[in-house]
Amino acid sequence: MPEFKTAIVTGSTSGIGLAIARSLAEAGHAVMMNGFGDASEIEAHRAAIETETGSPVAYNGADMSKPDDIAVLVAATEARFGQVDIVVNNAGIQTVAPIEDFPVDRYDLIMAINMSAAWHLTRLTMAGMKARKWGRIVNIASAHGLVASPFKSAYVMAKHAVVGLTKTVALEGAEFGVTANAICPGYVLTPLVEAQIPETAKARNITEEEVIRDVLLAAQPTKTFVQPGQIGALTVFLCSPAASQITGTAIPVDGGWTAH
Ligand code: NAD
Repeated sequence: MPEFKTAIVTGSTSGIGLAIARSLAEAGHAVMMNGFGDASEIEAHRAAIETETGSPVAYNGADMSKPDDIAVLVAATEARFGQVDIVVNNAGIQTVAPIEDFPVDRYDLIMAINMSAAWHLTRLTMAGMKARKWGRIVNIASAHGLVASPFKSAYVMAKHAVVGLTKTVALEGAEFGVTANAICPGYVLTPLVEAQIPETAKARNITEEEVIRDVLLAAQPTKTFVQPGQIGALTVFLCSPAASQITGTAIPVDGGWTAH
């Protein structure tokens, strides 16, 4: 076994995934980044994390909606780092619409990226983890893996499914040193969310502070965003020896949202 572990973090070119990639690299793990975006921006993130942490960081642009691409991602990681010890299933998209109007192509894409990709990546990496008697699977679900909101039928369905996958894989890995846990964030301040604040303020004729408190964070009792780095820190903890008995859980990081 190498001293450091090797991790794949899907959807790590932005937001929560990018913070998780950085946190894992800071903890000394080699990281395979993944996700879409401008090639030069992605390379800048990759190089910055590698330089600032001293951990090897690579990138593969697999489309997580495509099982063949997911197999290529695993092969590329094994070719670069030798093995895959940690899988963070983070890539995700959202569409908000009443179910009767929900675009079927968006439903299919949400299920493929937010749900099936986690199943495929686990399917393709589990045997190696079991054989080496060590593995960590961290699924970035959502508070919407535990409770629902209207107009998010596909997302809520996919995230609940991810919690079910987490429990099943935890049972399958339990005697092999492989843990599986879901992190269930509430509202996290990512570039995606930040971009919505000025638009919503304009549309509703309210201040940006009111958008944050009364619209975005209406269900989040702390009335403040979860920070991406907090999800990164929990991921690092779940990959540490201290967390070896934590498996099959769905851990809310939601400012009290699911305590309602
Ligand atoms: P984001 O839009 O900032 O990042 C999403 C990432 O997924 C990007 O890197 C993007 O390129 C990648 N991605 C999208 N489609 C992909 C595909 N087909 N193949 C590969 N990569 C793809 O979003 P975020 O807010 O950082 O969300 C990350 C995860 O956290 C998602 O699973 C999301 O559901 C979950 N989450 C987010 C929040 C929040 O408030 N932001 C709350 C709970 C859960």
